[in-house]
Amino acid sequence: MDRDLDPQLKVGFIGAGNMAFGIAKGILPGKVLPENVTVSAPSSRNLERFQELGIAVTHSNEEVVCGSQVVFVAVKPHLVPSVLSEVCRHVTDGHVIVSVAAGVTLATLEELLPENSAVIRLMPNLPCVVQEGALLFARGTHATPEAGALIRSLLHHCGLVEEGPEAWIDIHTGLSGSGVAFVYLFAEALAEGAVKMGMPGVLAQSISSQTVLGAGRLLRDSGKHPAQLRSEVCTPGGTTIHGLHALEQGGLRAAVMSAVESATVRARELG
Ligand code: NAP
Repeated sequence: MDRDLDPQLKVGFIGAGNMAFGIAKGILPGKVLPENVTVSAPSSRNLERFQELGIAVTHSNEEVVCGSQVVFVAVKPHLVPSVLSEVCRHVTDGHVIVSVAAGVTLATLEELLPENSAVIRLMPNLPCVVQEGALLFARGTHATPEAGALIRSLLHHCGLVEEGPEAWIDIHTGLSGSGVAFVYLFAEALAEGAVKMGMPGVLAQSISSQTVLGAGRLLRDSGKHPAQLRSEVCTPGGTTIHGLHALEQGGLRAAVMSAVESATVRARELG
């Protein structure tokens, strides 16, 4: 259940890259006011697009922490220790620190921050930038269920937001972080099949994108199992069952399962 957000909630981002931008764009349609959001980065090259949203920008990570209750740490994973050691003296009981850094565990984050800090590890995926992300978060030892509910409400417009144990973060990375690329590969192959059969590439690509989008929306919005929707498209002796047979012969199902497994194993190795 999403709860009402305090319109005066102050939110900060350390790091102004693609993920920070996607999440920032996603939180503004909620009740957070752009003037209550601050983002920091060492250079100005990524800050302008935040300014265009009315978000305050700075080169000081400490300013972000001092002026925010919820702080997203959105720098590359290898920079997390130096960034947190720079700001840790400003972190108080009133903060919720949310790290999106891949592979940086809750235990590591808690070690880098003052005792009893409320820490959340969040794994978003790229479609956050169009408010259609799939986000999974895990709460650290001192992050209360209320802190979890706050983050869930804050991220509501970024897409699907789910909570789970930290062990699921790597699986989510394989399923959803990397899964986006698996879907792109499928979309590319769909279009190439049409090009092979004589359709111009640009048109094939555009129809392929819309097919992936439409299939995804119907799957999500209907709440039906994919196998049910698939069988609804299959006329006995028709085109779809012939195509599906070809996909099964090509081992698509096993290949996709192996892809999620490989990506999850790799995420565990990197963590
Ligand atoms: P990115 O586009 O390379 O952005 C990194 C940002 O960090 C840049 O704005 C950079 O500043 C800033 N930065 C560098 N050093 C800093 C410092 N000392 N203090 C403050 N900011 C600093 O990276 P990204 O793709 O957004 O990824 C950010 C995090 O999200 C990573 O930890 C990644 O694991 C995680 N993540 C990404 C994705 C994804 O699909 N991209 C998915 C899940 C998780 P400049 O603007 O000056 O260069």
